[in-house]
Amino acid sequence: MKYHLVTLGCAKNTVDSMRLEQALRAGRHLPVAAPQDADLLLVNTCGFIDDAKAESVEVIRGLDDGRREDQRLYVIGCMTEIAEGEVRAAIPDVDATYGVEQWDAIAAELGPASETYDIPERSLPQFGSPSAYLKISDGCDRPCTFCIIPTIKGGMHSDDARRLIAEARMYAAAGAKELVLVAQDSTAYGEDRGDRDGLAALLEQLAEAVPEAPWVRLMYAYPGRVTPRLAETMARLPNVVPYLDMPLQHGSDAMLRRMKRPSLRVARQSIEHIRTAMPDAVLRTTFIVGFPGETEQEFEQLLDFVEEQRFDHIGAFTYSPQAGTPAATLAEQVPEAVKQERYGALMELAQGISLDSNRAMVGREVDVLIESDEPAQAEGGGSISIGRTFRDAPEVDGMALLKGEYPSGALVRAWVVGAMPYDLLCDPAEGNAD
Ligand code: SF4
Repeated sequence: MKYHLVTLGCAKNTVDSMRLEQALRAGRHLPVAAPQDADLLLVNTCGFIDDAKAESVEVIRGLDDGRREDQRLYVIGCMTEIAEGEVRAAIPDVDATYGVEQWDAIAAELGPASETYDIPERSLPQFGSPSAYLKISDGCDRPCTFCIIPTIKGGMHSDDARRLIAEARMYAAAGAKELVLVAQDSTAYGEDRGDRDGLAALLEQLAEAVPEAPWVRLMYAYPGRVTPRLAETMARLPNVVPYLDMPLQHGSDAMLRRMKRPSLRVARQSIEHIRTAMPDAVLRTTFIVGFPGETEQEFEQLLDFVEEQRFDHIGAFTYSPQAGTPAATLAEQVPEAVKQERYGALMELAQGISLDSNRAMVGREVDVLIESDEPAQAEGGGSISIGRTFRDAPEVDGMALLKGEYPSGALVRAWVVGAMPYDLLCDPAEGNAD
């Protein structure tokens, strides 16, 4: 069977789609790029917020409108897990729905392909990128009042370390230069098996098993679970980059209590563990503005906290109520215009700090991981290759713009010669000029 798979939502959903693809490939089913060439249309949906649900419905409807009678349409993933009825109501002709992590069930239903296809091996597992996402666990046990994830995905369950190492080896063998560890809560890794420092142990095993992946990056840490042992392990292992993404959600203790999140004291302690072990560590965090009841003063406390900690990268979201979460029913919802205004003020502050952080890199020698085979044209002529330094995570942070033409996946030694709010300008170091 030929299938066309569309993946919506976050990096973790991308990993789910890859697992599904592995199961389908094992049945010798063939992925095709164009929907009209497929026997089966698959949409892996996102249901995290209302906008994501609307996008999922739009994509499914688009495929449904254009499909032939002999083409099947399956909808899977987060939206079908929590709102299958909405999918069925919007697109009644969907042939089957599956929730999250159902790849084996889907592959079993389809059975082995009746025609034997010559399945092309992709040079890299994830759509030509030199970075591979490794989802180390799924689900979440935390009580955050704004979040629907524990309802969608259930409690935290860690993936088996041996399986993860085998997956990491496969990516490295396919040429991946960066492994990005993702989860709903990466620092909880192993807790379901009683391991207190399971993530530190996993990093050690990965470093030993896959030394050819020069960058291992940690996303989605939970404040309070960044232990001194984890910070020291990150500092000690040469291929774990000194970078941590730790969503903090707010900078006011009253708000954090309402969100049922760890306090600022706990957040500061985790940051201190990281900065003590790695003084040059790059910190990324995310905040929600306009959570119900957020006063002007509480928002100012968030800005003060950002000034105090000077995070290198900040992502921000305006609060959007999720049906089925405790926060959705809270009184004192903040008006949309106020949310937007606060979002603008936070991002303006974050941009200035990000620019300072990038300026501090000027004059330093770095490795740039090239991400694209298609160089851009520089303003004054010549080519620019697009990549990232260890300071930037794929998709969410900035870029490094490097003079010259280099292939995707190359790690190029370079000097930082200029800084923009989100991106760095680099020249190849001697011996690397193309
Ligand atoms: S830790 Fe993250 S995934 Fe878990 S409930 Fe909180 S926001 Fe949701």
